[in-house]
Amino acid sequence: MPSSLFAGDSPGWMPRGACQGEDPELFFPITAVGPALAQVFAAKAVCFRCAVRAACLSYALATGQAGIWGGTTQEERHAMRRSSGIRAREHSAMPRSASAAAHHDGNFAGQ
Ligand code: SF4
Repeated sequence: MPSSLFAGDSPGWMPRGACQGEDPELFFPITAVGPALAQVFAAKAVCFRCAVRAACLSYALATGQAGIWGGTTQEERHAMRRSSGIRAREHSAMPRSASAAAHHDGNFAGQ
């Protein structure tokens, strides 16, 4: 796999995600606890068979995305950033960015 696929905030790997064609709402659970856990586990099951999971996780860590990315919840990525000192870009407060929507619904046209 070319190293450019792991360029942090580069989204070139998105069209290869296993989530392409899946219901995008699966990757945006309301919470990561209680009844929503079944949704979180279902989304993670898709991620764990994904060939670009590492690049996806790197991108989500770099850009502060909401939802399930790279087999992790937003809360898990917050913990990863805290423990490693990684800072996300400013748009981390957005609940669901345009790139996230495009990524998970298969309409990614490149950026
Ligand atoms: S969210 Fe990321 S790791 Fe999960 S299936 Fe989509 S591209 Fe792969």
